[in-house]
Amino acid sequence: MSKKILEVKNLKKYYPTVKAVDDISFSIEKGTVFTLLGPNGAGKTTTLEIIEGIKKADEGRIVFFGEELKQVSDEAKQKIGVSLQSTNFIPHLKVKEVFELFASFFKKSLPIEEVIGFVSLEEKRNDLVEKLSGGQKQRVAIGCALINDPEMVFLDEPTTGLDPQARRNIWGIIEHLKGQGKTVFLTTHYMEEAQKLSDMVCIMDYGKIIAIDTPSGHIKKLGELNYVEFAADLEQLDIDELNAWDVEEVEIEGDKVIIPTKSLHIVLEKLLSWAKRKELDLNDISIRQPNLEDVFLSLTGRRLRD
Ligand code: ATP
Repeated sequence: MSKKILEVKNLKKYYPTVKAVDDISFSIEKGTVFTLLGPNGAGKTTTLEIIEGIKKADEGRIVFFGEELKQVSDEAKQKIGVSLQSTNFIPHLKVKEVFELFASFFKKSLPIEEVIGFVSLEEKRNDLVEKLSGGQKQRVAIGCALINDPEMVFLDEPTTGLDPQARRNIWGIIEHLKGQGKTVFLTTHYMEEAQKLSDMVCIMDYGKIIAIDTPSGHIKKLGELNYVEFAADLEQLDIDELNAWDVEEVEIEGDKVIIPTKSLHIVLEKLLSWAKRKELDLNDISIRQPNLEDVFLSLTGRRLRD
């Protein structure tokens, strides 16, 4: 049977000019990847830092490992691993020395070589951390979060600013952690990442939870929508004509036209004959299923991307 590892109830953190966390409640099942997804400033880091014991909530309850806590206890700290949004390492330490330092903070720790292998830094173990790439530094930060063999790992935007290859490396680490039965609490503003990795996705905006579900559960709520996309010379296009078809509101992104519709066959037929009639070139035509970006748009009227 599934077991709750963390429950958060009516959590609030207000600053003078902003409600950073505005009365949110959720729970996380053991062995799952739980993701807070939201744009910059949504309140993800504040939520995480309250649970980690870095910030104090104004109000709310936290039940962690079955115990009600005002703040994370020293005992609970032994069972969690934390990778903050940005980590500054002592620059003149080598990778393995950073891990040795972090290991010394805990009562029990994994063998350093095991952690180095887990985050694939074998070839860098004797390099100074200051010489590492952004993705490698992020892997050191995640390795530090794993050094005490935690039951639950908090990863605050672990892939922000990384190139696609480095991002995929981190995804592999998260999938591996899940395979080991660890619980992962992730924050991200990349919908693709949330969709790929998460068991549950909690969408946050302006300090509030606006939807919480599995990735496929979120998407199902959009109904049977498909998205027809193409690029075209927008000056030759009259969007009102497209909006008159059996479609949801047509969107323009750069030179791309996005037509959400529940009547895919009819819209495709109409589109092709319409383009022929108008002698309009449609480039890069594709049909795609909805994603979490579309879910965010339908909930807020805005795109998640900055
Ligand atoms: P990002 O993706 O940019 O990290 P986030 O979703 O993690 O964003 P938070 O960092 O939790 O968002 O910030 C939530 C809101 O609280 C923001 O409007 C932020 O400016 C504000 N905030 C955070 N810390 C403070 C503080 N110490 N004093 C005042 N306002 C703060």
